[in-house]
Amino acid sequence: MTPLLIRGATVLTMDAALGDLLDADVRVERGRITAVGHGLADAGAEVLDAHGMLLLPGLIDTHTHMWQGPLKGLGAAMWGMADYHRHIFSLREAFTAEDMADATFATGVEMLDNGITTALDFCHNVMSPAHAERSIEAHARTGQRVLFAYGMLGSIDKLQAEHGWRMEQVRGLARTQPSDPAAMVRLGVALASLEYAGLPLFRQEVELARELGLPMSFHQNVAGQVHELHGAGLLGPDLLPVHCNPILDAELELVAQAGCGISFTPESEVGDGRDTAVIARAHRRGITPSLGVDVPSRVALDLFSQMKLTFWLLRQEEAAAERAAGRWPLARYPGTPRAQPRHLLEYVTVNAARAVGLGEVLGRVAPGCLADLVLLRPGAYEPSLGDPAAHVVLQAGPQDVDSVIVGGALRKRGGRLLHLDRDEARAATRRVRERLFPVSVPALEKP
Ligand SMILES: [Zn+2]
Repeated sequence: MTPLLIRGATVLTMDAALGDLLDADVRVERGRITAVGHGLADAGAEVLDAHGMLLLPGLIDTHTHMWQGPLKGLGAAMWGMADYHRHIFSLREAFTAEDMADATFATGVEMLDNGITTALDFCHNVMSPAHAERSIEAHARTGQRVLFAYGMLGSIDKLQAEHGWRMEQVRGLARTQPSDPAAMVRLGVALASLEYAGLPLFRQEVELARELGLPMSFHQNVAGQVHELHGAGLLGPDLLPVHCNPILDAELELVAQAGCGISFTPESEVGDGRDTAVIARAHRRGITPSLGVDVPSRVALDLFSQMKLTFWLLRQEEAAAERAAGRWPLARYPGTPRAQPRHLLEYVTVNAARAVGLGEVLGRVAPGCLADLVLLRPGAYEPSLGDPAAHVVLQAGPQDVDSVIVGGALRKRGGRLLHLDRDEARAATRRVRERLFPVSVPALEKP
């Protein structure tokens, strides 16, 4: 792989020691960042002129069900979880292994195109061993870095009966999976939801994942579950709870003590009508949240939108607390406001890297880190004044992603994917839809 020299960017390193650098260069060799600074030598390197652009770590999504990508639009008019279970989740059983391959590929390509260089694929549709195998194969073709979180939640009524082969397959996959943190596709475990599986099954899954050294994630949708896990001695920094909307304050303290992050999926949670105050409650306690798209059936594969929405949800909760304390109109009391736009960029880089078990080597533009990078054009008009991180969070969108580099490989340049054609992803989506809905697409009830 030819070394790369990215020349003249405004670099948001997200590294505490390096900070932001103006008109700076980044050198990439053998998949890693080898130098960050000014006036670096370009000997033997392909030079990317990045003057006028922002260079940041590749964005990391920590919770998306990637098999749902071809269902885009189907969830648009849903109201609450009952609709989701009836119209989206129920389609799980209709997906073949072939559908999983096509859907996973199409979703990964679109995410990569939008600057999401790493995703935690919470694959809760492993209905046969082939479903997992084909999904992993598809991930290997997209160029995106992936933590494939193997879904332990099969058909709810057959959880116990089918638990054995899933545990065995995880063990088998772990044997063939490279343990190198630089591997493009790593294995993790998407634990069965505690409310369906019960503690004994859940414990078996956690113990297996720990024995094999695999990161874990789970949907945390019921108050009291974190207490239960703490009581069972199962909480740990390798466990990523998702959503956590009903979590109790004392449970958030346990999450903080255990060193877990949380994955917050703002658009999905607002869409479900959940209480989104958890993000401010977690932020206040020093927990390191990360973000996810969650349900592509109604949320665009775009972390810029998720950053922006989360920032305003944080501000909304803080303002509500101020009003409740009788401090109105808003003014700058010591310690307020807590949330700044730059925090949101931390959520999708350094925090998210930690959440997928790569905190030491991913999520920063620093020597030694994996070379997963995004170059953003500041838009067709003049860039923002002030903090460039605020520009990324509040002004930028996927249309501004000029270049994408993953593991040192240039995957997108000048707004065009280099290693594959978007038509391949479009065709994969069409194939899934033709197989799933040979006659017509199901419509939600009219209002
Ligand atoms: Zn989810």
